[in-house]
Amino acid sequence: MPIDLKALALPGIRQLQPYQPGKPVEELERELGIEGAIKLASNENPLGMSELAKQAIVQALAEGSRYPDGSGFYLKRRLVELLSINEDQLVLGNGSNDVLELLARTFLEPCHNAVVSQHAFVMYNLIVTAQGADVRTVPALNWGHDLNAMAAAVDKNTRLMFIANPNNPTGTWVSLADIETLLETLPVTVIVVLDEAYFEYVDLPEYGSALTLLSRYPNLVVTRTFSKAYGLASLRAGYSVSHPDIAGLLNRLRQPFNVNSLALVAAEAILDDSEYLANSIAVNQQGYEQLTTGFEKLGLEYIASAGNFIAVEVPNTLEVYQALLQKGVIVRPIGIYEMPNHLRISIGRPDENQRCLDALARILLANESSA
Ligand SMILES: *Cc1c(COP(=O)(O)O)cnc(C)c1O
Repeated sequence: MPIDLKALALPGIRQLQPYQPGKPVEELERELGIEGAIKLASNENPLGMSELAKQAIVQALAEGSRYPDGSGFYLKRRLVELLSINEDQLVLGNGSNDVLELLARTFLEPCHNAVVSQHAFVMYNLIVTAQGADVRTVPALNWGHDLNAMAAAVDKNTRLMFIANPNNPTGTWVSLADIETLLETLPVTVIVVLDEAYFEYVDLPEYGSALTLLSRYPNLVVTRTFSKAYGLASLRAGYSVSHPDIAGLLNRLRQPFNVNSLALVAAEAILDDSEYLANSIAVNQQGYEQLTTGFEKLGLEYIASAGNFIAVEVPNTLEVYQALLQKGVIVRPIGIYEMPNHLRISIGRPDENQRCLDALARILLANESSA
């Protein structure tokens, strides 16, 4: 009898479904024997890395044989200043996903549950399930988080609630006032994780930073990342801001060198590159206009998004996805988010957006004439 190695794993780990990352450009080009493919599939910053960040990395390479500063002293000092918080509220992560996972590992046992929304960022499912805890998925309201229903789903075993604001892949958001109302109603034993990965892109009057609520709600954790508007996805850097007691727990559990030296210096540098951030936001706003105008012309319905991506409904979704690939345009099908009729398209540079729209137009026209 061959030994069943899988049976040795923890029950939560055995249940995990592998995460499907967006197809890399190089892989598609190899497969199809084409060149010049574009990737609008992983909500990456289309501007490339900031020159200031690159310079900081080149300088830091001189010390590349040494371990990173495990305390992240300089980056933390910069964040403290920028966010008007205290150092003991911060936890740095190898991407904000690292911090999200630390939260699950710190607070969840198999007897517990975490409340999430339908169509919410899939990572929450993965990290909660890995703990052997229950994921309580609450039906979405107009594609977005239904905070009242999420509050109603809380029971005595609920330890965590994840709210992506804006949410990936829907782009939906909740107002600061609604978050405050939610925090008022929840027991303090429920830790509310507000994932603000796309915070910098949002320009809406009702949207505000939940950092302002931290002093009043000790059960609130806000996470941010350098992967999106700051354009450092490859380096893996993110952080959480919370009550010092929660930060203390996460800091004990995290790997001592979880954020590498190049990520630390690049993150510090990008916080000083206000031009890069302003440009990211401007390109995103223009791209949103360009893509949504294009979708409307094509008669496609999309979900209004506050992030750097748009979920758009297309007929014959997977066929259109494949046809886009054939034309060298990589987007993301989101069936695993219970959105089998939508594609998530990350907002690119103007030329990339145009190429995506042109390809979509040709594919849809061909489909119509063959129908
Ligand atoms: C992209 C994304 C993150 C960021 O992940 P990193 O690990 O920081 O790269 C976090 N939450 C959501 C909802 C995201 O879409």
